[in-house]
Amino acid sequence: MTKIFKDNLKEVETFLASYKKDTLPHFINGSKVYSESGATFENSSPIDNQVIGKIAAGDSTDIDTACEAANQAFGEWKTISGKIKKRLLHKIADGIEKRAHEIALIESYDSGQAIRYMSKAAMRSAANFRFFADMAPTAADGKSLLAEEHMNYSMRQPIGPVGIITPWNTPFMLATWKIAPALAAGCTVVHKPAEWSPYTAMILAEIIHDAGLPDGVLNVVHGLGETAGKALTEDERIKAIAFVGESSTGSQIMKQGADTLKRVHFELGGKNPVIVFDDADLERALDAVVLMIFSLNGERCTSSSRLLIQESIKEEFLEKVQQRISKLKVGHPLDPETEIGPLIHKKHLDKVLGYFECATKEGARIVKGGKISNKSSIGNYVEPTLFIDVDNSMKIAQEEIFGPVLSAISFVDESHALRIANDVNYGLAAYLWTNDVGRSVRLSQQLEAGMIWINSENNRHLPAPFGGMKASGIGRDGGDYSFDFYMETKNICTAFGTHAIPKLGK
Ligand code: NAD
Repeated sequence: MTKIFKDNLKEVETFLASYKKDTLPHFINGSKVYSESGATFENSSPIDNQVIGKIAAGDSTDIDTACEAANQAFGEWKTISGKIKKRLLHKIADGIEKRAHEIALIESYDSGQAIRYMSKAAMRSAANFRFFADMAPTAADGKSLLAEEHMNYSMRQPIGPVGIITPWNTPFMLATWKIAPALAAGCTVVHKPAEWSPYTAMILAEIIHDAGLPDGVLNVVHGLGETAGKALTEDERIKAIAFVGESSTGSQIMKQGADTLKRVHFELGGKNPVIVFDDADLERALDAVVLMIFSLNGERCTSSSRLLIQESIKEEFLEKVQQRISKLKVGHPLDPETEIGPLIHKKHLDKVLGYFECATKEGARIVKGGKISNKSSIGNYVEPTLFIDVDNSMKIAQEEIFGPVLSAISFVDESHALRIANDVNYGLAAYLWTNDVGRSVRLSQQLEAGMIWINSENNRHLPAPFGGMKASGIGRDGGDYSFDFYMETKNICTAFGTHAIPKLGK
């Protein structure tokens, strides 16, 4: 065991001490509070499936209190100038940077994601706040549209209190990706974090409180999706729901929000193709293919879970993928050497294992992995897996497995690759590896995906639109796209006083 690993273990114990002793509360109107009902639920670590601690289990009563706090706070927060918001949001980023190590360790322990990624995710969270802090002063900006005898100008105003519901795969980073633009836009927030990874949401609440934001601007209510989450989506004071999670939950939320005509923004599942042509830089393609399915335990919406490989290079390329998989380091997530940690929950492990069984029944061949890992005596470890001889109609090619599992499908030519790539319900991301510029342009226009990376892994630029088509989502995040969601656009049309008004009843 290296010294850094040992230190990580020691430090995380210190950080978790209070969570192990006391129930993790909600954060409502600037205070830590327990559920009105006194109800709690347990949260365990995927490392050993031992209970870390108890979490307050919110229900409609707690959501009601949080929504009222957000509603009251909206009156003040929306009027605070962009300049002040910018300063406050930068202070939040400072606070995140100061506690980044703690956030990364807790997140890693709670979610099973390897520390090497969670350290970066914590810093990216600070970057999210800095980015939207700088945009706050111009959030209300609109357009001026000159018409005949009329002047139109548009402006944006915050939509009101919003609900933010997040998943467990990179909980802290995803929460900041939603909360930062909402606050910069002038919205107040009720956040419902995922029940399998609740801890870091409280750290964010503390940081935001310490930065000096008024009480009620950010509220956090823990609880199950079907109770706390549902109540949030149904509350009429909440004007919009930003949701990241499974496609089926998205459709549930849309139904729940229908009566109150909720505006929704959905970032949902994916079954993303990485298409590798024989003219590509195959060494770089190999790096990207392996990274985009085996990083973050494959529990990543933009993971390239379908490898579409051209027939002519199939044998050679798949051989190299296998060699890489053999060397992947599966282990304790707090070990800096670890590349793949345990899956979030026993239930999720069972789901992933279920696909191994069904793949073989459907006729795919497992050439690497395909089993629970020998490290799994107490934790949720699974072997990184490669399926070959996969047909795109198989379940493993159509459904989001959300684990370190790659399905390889071969194609003959460009049109064949395109047909396979688009033949899924999802449409989040697609990765294309070719040195033929014309082909890259042709394909990127026809691929049904919200984000396409050519000769690259998922490389994020915060002003660029992030989101999916088809069952992968509704709406886009990033830069100004985020403000379009969290704000209403208002048009103001002023006459010059010169135009003729039709005279009725004269
Ligand atoms: P999930 O849909 O099960 O849960 C997400 C959140 O929704 C949790 O907080 C949960 O409590 C809540 N929820 C569940 N039912 C609800 C209901 N009826 N009403 C309101 N809230 C409810 O998703 P998960 O298993 O936590 O996360 C994994 C999924 O997230 C994967 O499908 C993944 O692709 C997706 N994801 C997408 C993106 C993206 O940007 N597109 C990013 C990360 C994760």
